[in-house]
Amino acid sequence: AERTDKKAYEEAQKRLKIAEDDQRNMLPELRKRSRWEYLKKREAEKLEDLEAEIIDEEYLFATDELTEREKRDLEYKRTLRDLAKDYKKAGAKEQEERKNRYYMPEEKRRKVPQRDLELEETPMELGGEQGRWEEERLKTASLSFGAKKEREQGMRQEQEKYQLILEEDEMIDFVSTDQDTPALSQAELKKQSMQEVRRSLPIFPYREDLLAAIHEHQILVIEGETGSGKTTQIPQYLLEDGYTKGGMKIGCTQPRRVAAMSVAARVAEEMSVKLGNEVGYSIRFEDCTSERTVLKYMTDGMLLREFLTEPDLASYSVIIIDEAHERTLHTDILFGLIKDIARFRSDLKVLVASATLDTERFSCFFDDAPVFRIPGRRFPVDIYYTKNKIYCYKEQVLIMHPSSCCTFVLQEEIEACCELLQERCRRLGSKIAELLVLPIYANLPSDMQAKIFNPTPPGARKVVVATNIAETSLTIDGIIYVIDPGFCKQKSYNARTGMESLIVTPCSRASANQRAGRAGRVAAGKCFRLYTAWAFKHEMEETTVPEIQRTNLGNVVLLLKSLGINDLIHFDFMDPPPHETLVLALEQLYALGALNHLGELTKLGRRMAELPVDPMLSKMILASEQYKCSEEVLTIAAMLSVNNSIFYRPKDKVVHADNARMNFVVPGGDHLVLLNVYTQWVESGYSTQWCYENFIQFRSMRRARDVRDQLEGLMDRIEVEVVSSQGDNIPIRKAVTAGYFYHTARLSKGGYKTVKHQQTVYVHPNSSLFEEQPRWLIYHELVFTTKEFMRQVIEIESGWLLEVAPHYYKSKE
Ligand code: ADP
Ligand code: MG
Repeated sequence: AERTDKKAYEEAQKRLKIAEDDQRNMLPELRKRSRWEYLKKREAEKLEDLEAEIIDEEYLFATDELTEREKRDLEYKRTLRDLAKDYKKAGAKEQEERKNRYYMPEEKRRKVPQRDLELEETPMELGGEQGRWEEERLKTASLSFGAKKEREQGMRQEQEKYQLILEEDEMIDFVSTDQDTPALSQAELKKQSMQEVRRSLPIFPYREDLLAAIHEHQILVIEGETGSGKTTQIPQYLLEDGYTKGGMKIGCTQPRRVAAMSVAARVAEEMSVKLGNEVGYSIRFEDCTSERTVLKYMTDGMLLREFLTEPDLASYSVIIIDEAHERTLHTDILFGLIKDIARFRSDLKVLVASATLDTERFSCFFDDAPVFRIPGRRFPVDIYYTKNKIYCYKEQVLIMHPSSCCTFVLQEEIEACCELLQERCRRLGSKIAELLVLPIYANLPSDMQAKIFNPTPPGARKVVVATNIAETSLTIDGIIYVIDPGFCKQKSYNARTGMESLIVTPCSRASANQRAGRAGRVAAGKCFRLYTAWAFKHEMEETTVPEIQRTNLGNVVLLLKSLGINDLIHFDFMDPPPHETLVLALEQLYALGALNHLGELTKLGRRMAELPVDPMLSKMILASEQYKCSEEVLTIAAMLSVNNSIFYRPKDKVVHADNARMNFVVPGGDHLVLLNVYTQWVESGYSTQWCYENFIQFRSMRRARDVRDQLEGLMDRIEVEVVSSQGDNIPIRKAVTAGYFYHTARLSKGGYKTVKHQQTVYVHPNSSLFEEQPRWLIYHELVFTTKEFMRQVIEIESGWLLEVAPHYYKSKE
């Protein structure tokens, strides 16, 4: 009986999914509530129709007028009805359950007020605090939209204050501004032992409650302000509580490489162990773990790859999906996979950790998992907007503020912004207090990263110039001011053309509020928004669209297919990707030969999935087997993956640098230039000096070498022999074509046009082929700056296209 129940249930589920398909284009509706909630409701609505049908048929059944098949149908309908009834009942109870669903730890008086005393300011009561913060925000936001007059006036005054500050930037009197803001005394902070710091974190008083909640529930959503100790403390608590007995691991995912590395280093330090032993991290092309590792921090993409070797994650006792609110592509896919394995691995604990955003949605997705809220400690942050749009005030504002500050800029602006600041400091000399300018971004080497966490020397201030990595992933202490230009860089994907590009867009309101929150961690702070209150309300989106809805899915589809998940349309997505994106990914994988016409993984596809790179790059590497040039192609793949940071072009030596670069040019295109650089570097004995003399960035080369080593190590697994083409570049270019034929451009009267969509594109001025203008080109990527530029291009012959992708190009004829 149990089995038929199960079957009927499965069928009912299938029906639910069909219902969902009908609703596929109702995305906004789906996004508002959880899918399950939505479906439950729909199913309940159909209940009455169903009931009527059953009554009719039962009559026929009683008079024996039904065929066997109809009887089975009736049985199925009854099951469905019962299910629907249950759903309906659940719906009625929902209000009640909703109240109980949220597990809210009891507010306790913390016993460790040491830090607060130093601040000479006791944090206000929680509710009041949050209330004030929200009111503050509401006030500032609503003010400029015709609210009460006096309020308007208040706003104007505040804005004038800000305006004044900006305009008088050359004659700032630092002593007189905002000296009342208490800051942490660095010397005292240093005195605190690390254990005391651990005990002073907001999460600490809830340690026992949290462990009890984890014990009780298989899946738990944990919500807490940035800096409350989620990432660094929870894994340690679990370890202390015995979750790593018997060699089981605790895994914690991070969307960003830097965060995974930096947090692992911090935790290793807190536990006084060597990084890579008990505590380690794993990011693409870099594995810093060992047999002994029980706390493993990793990027979400790496955990995804672990499913390939261990589909049930059997070696983990706990998986923490951290920074869940970031909703990266990989995190979203993990949600679906982990929810699935949690069903049959009842011993696996799943923790979904997030900043104070969207946690209800996570709870809904994970079948109403309880939410554990860590009461935050947040000081009020005053928010200032500009009167008019301004663009270039960053450095003025930075220079004048008396306390440490953090600003959010785009990665390519960081260097310029830091230089500008330092230049200004030099000019102002002793007129201002010492200012440490510290950059932080995703690819910053770890020794430089460590600097932002170092205590600031007495009397000095620091300015952290960060990308949005400092929004929630990393906690930097002592920040009192935040400057928010309001932009971020976002991937966007055109599913029609299959083109992916990075574009600068206004960040979301949720992001802006997270940024502002960075100012209120240790004391009352201020946030300067370099945009108008109007723009905040009208030009910014409420939240950031999940990455899965604006990116190429080729990689993920290949991975899911190799995990045996064939039916992607019905994968349990928290927010499904646009249908056409999914179809396009399938199409591309088919064209690459990774899928057959039934959408099943081919042998080639299986091998491609083994490589941790994009499908096109993967295909290029695999094609090098046939063309007997894997030696060279591996190098090119490695060099492409450190992309755009090979050549160094200091401002005062532009001519030298450009000449040095010209010396590496060889015929055929940029891929071959990159190969040439690498080959010469190998011949120099991997010399630092050689890099210096040739204006090549040593760090990038070292990374390329690491990547290459890793890829070469994988060649064995996919059975590709590493051989050289002995100086013949045609096989190399054919292998590139085999992977990137989607990226073909052709020269015609008006310039270059992509073959697939006839879009006008341009060779990047940095390219070795900028002046050559060959008839057929393949580009590695398109970037949109002032125009749609092709970056890293190689010359090909049109005949090769048919050779490398016959099924794709034949069907085009
Ligand atoms: P959450 O994950 O809740 O945002 P974290 O666990 O990352 O919080 O951070 C908790 C505290 O640990 C921070 O307030 C900070 O003081 C400290 N911390 C985290 N990483 C580092 C680091 N690399 N160096 C020094 N302190 C750190
Ligand atoms: Mg964290």
